[in-house]
Amino acid sequence: MGFEATTWLFKPCYNYFFNASTGVYHLVIFKMTTFYPGPSQIYPEVADYMQDAYNSGILLQNHRSDQGMALLKETVTLLREKLNIPANFDIYFTTSGTECWEIISQSIPAENYLHFINGGFGQKWFEYSKKLAVKNCESISYGINEALPNVKIKADSIVCLTQNETSNGTQITMPQLAQFDLENCLVAVDTVSSMGGIELDWTLADIWLTSVQKCFGLPAGLGIMVCSPKVKHVAKQFNSDNHYNSLLNIDKNMALFQTVNTPNILGIFLLNRVLKQSPNIKITDERLKLQAKKWYDFFENNNKFELFCQNKAVQSNTVIVVKGEKDNIEKLKQKTEKEGLILGNGYGIWKDNTFRIANFPAIDPNEIERLMHCISTF
Ligand SMILES: *Cc1c(COP(=O)(O)O)cnc(C)c1O
Repeated sequence: MGFEATTWLFKPCYNYFFNASTGVYHLVIFKMTTFYPGPSQIYPEVADYMQDAYNSGILLQNHRSDQGMALLKETVTLLREKLNIPANFDIYFTTSGTECWEIISQSIPAENYLHFINGGFGQKWFEYSKKLAVKNCESISYGINEALPNVKIKADSIVCLTQNETSNGTQITMPQLAQFDLENCLVAVDTVSSMGGIELDWTLADIWLTSVQKCFGLPAGLGIMVCSPKVKHVAKQFNSDNHYNSLLNIDKNMALFQTVNTPNILGIFLLNRVLKQSPNIKITDERLKLQAKKWYDFFENNNKFELFCQNKAVQSNTVIVVKGEKDNIEKLKQKTEKEGLILGNGYGIWKDNTFRIANFPAIDPNEIERLMHCISTF
């Protein structure tokens, strides 16, 4: 009788070591963990939740059935409870973070869009807004070691911020966001690599968008939008309803706990189950902050690699980006991979001289210790 693949508690990875003094090869089996910041490490419990989804029959249900609506309703309630989302904010399901970018510009074709950009994802979002019907689409760039620049903004602008820039490991903290004068604007915030990992102050912006393959520890294919009451009001003024996924259409369906199109029911089921097992975001936020500090201290004391962002005030809590010589990075990746630890490649223009380490909730702290050991002995 051998081991069945399904009896493993984790995806195993193996290697052979040759002991020269005994002349014996040893087979060593260890866990495999990805530190890629998306798609990223999935909670091990998800394997069982997938089986539960199949067994429960929910995957065969129409999304306008009682069972489908009950699942959506419960999942929205769980998001509200676990992430402390105010009762008057709307929660919508989409298919991805990128789709959320598009939903905003096609549903709210305002005169002025202003994007603040300091990295690859902020830049991508700006490109999409420019292509979509927006008249005056402008951008302000700022450096990776700088805080968000406080500039005077035209009234009624749509301000687009990337709260956690996954490409370079920087963040806009909640106190920094609070300092910013955004009174007369509609503020949209990309939190794709932070929602579910850090505590957000929902009252500081109007649209918060994310997807589940990063901090929620789930497979890709589901996006989430959290909107203040102002968003619906503004969308109604523009009455832009030509797209199947317009905010107005999404909202009309969500009032019945339904979605416009057949949604990713498996994704919503898995989100529901993962939220049930998760503590309140306050607890996760504290844990990740301590863990991030460990990583930052670790690289401050490393002589081969250094932190890409040096300004502590803007360093991300969920994505650690590290700089080094191309050759060293290549060799380090090979070393960690042999131990089943996958580092994230650098992103865009920083591809060759940086690597990224996700500090997401689903990553086992023992695996972080293992990666730290592997890097410190490099
Ligand atoms: C990953 C990521 C996206 C893209 O999300 P998708 O769900 O793949 O569309 C957008 N913004 C940021 C900051 C990201 O990290």
